[in-house]
Amino acid sequence: MNLNILCLYPNMMDLYGDNGNIEIIKYRANKRGIDVNIDSYTINDEEPDFYNYDLVFLGGGSDKEQKVVSKDIIKYKKQIERSINLGVFYLLICGGFQLFGKYYKDSEDNIIEGLNIFDFYTESSTDKKERCIGNIVISSKIGNKNIEILGFENHGGQTFNTDKPFGKVLYGNGNTFKNEYEGLMTENVIGTYLHGPLLSKNPELSDYIIKYCLERKYKKNINLSKLDDEFEIIAKKEMLDKLLTKSNV
Ligand code: GLN
Repeated sequence: MNLNILCLYPNMMDLYGDNGNIEIIKYRANKRGIDVNIDSYTINDEEPDFYNYDLVFLGGGSDKEQKVVSKDIIKYKKQIERSINLGVFYLLICGGFQLFGKYYKDSEDNIIEGLNIFDFYTESSTDKKERCIGNIVISSKIGNKNIEILGFENHGGQTFNTDKPFGKVLYGNGNTFKNEYEGLMTENVIGTYLHGPLLSKNPELSDYIIKYCLERKYKKNINLSKLDDEFEIIAKKEMLDKLLTKSNV
């Protein structure tokens, strides 16, 4: 079995090591004997065949990078939208997530056009100091289980009009300052403000994505073998205990 991954604009959209998420997928898949091919696409490269991938990844970026990427990615709106409709999994972090909505108004009031695949939009305060920064915990339904997902957020953009959140905020901000909800999740798209990298902190989520991609590709039920996540579990528990104790909430 193999997984085919496309990493979009890795040279520009990699805030806080977001591309590490793909390393995690590769590591966890390889441990189970699943081969992983990772291609990247950036400005001036040949058009990628979006339909050929199981997973497409886009990380976060600063306003400056988002502006440049927006102009390029919009050329592929049709292909991206169609591949989402065909079930290709998209994992989108922060600035990458914002680019899939209607628009992003940056801290200098410039409108950066989004792909307009989803109905949400994002606006930043013109006061550059007004940002949602810090650890965040959300409760999210992954498969048929509610799990706590841990990450780190750092965004000026406030995202409005999301109707299918990735999770309920237990600690931190979410889509806007002190929001009840975070991100966006459909069957095959996760858009989130959680950096971290997200998947190293939340192995359950990595496996959910691997399983989804393999089941879609091979059209059969896949049971991933268990990995030794002892340290990941201890590290996560330590942070959750710290953040979710009553005095902190
Ligand atoms: N530039 C965007 C914002 O500040 C996204 C930042 C990010 O990707 N961390 O909201």
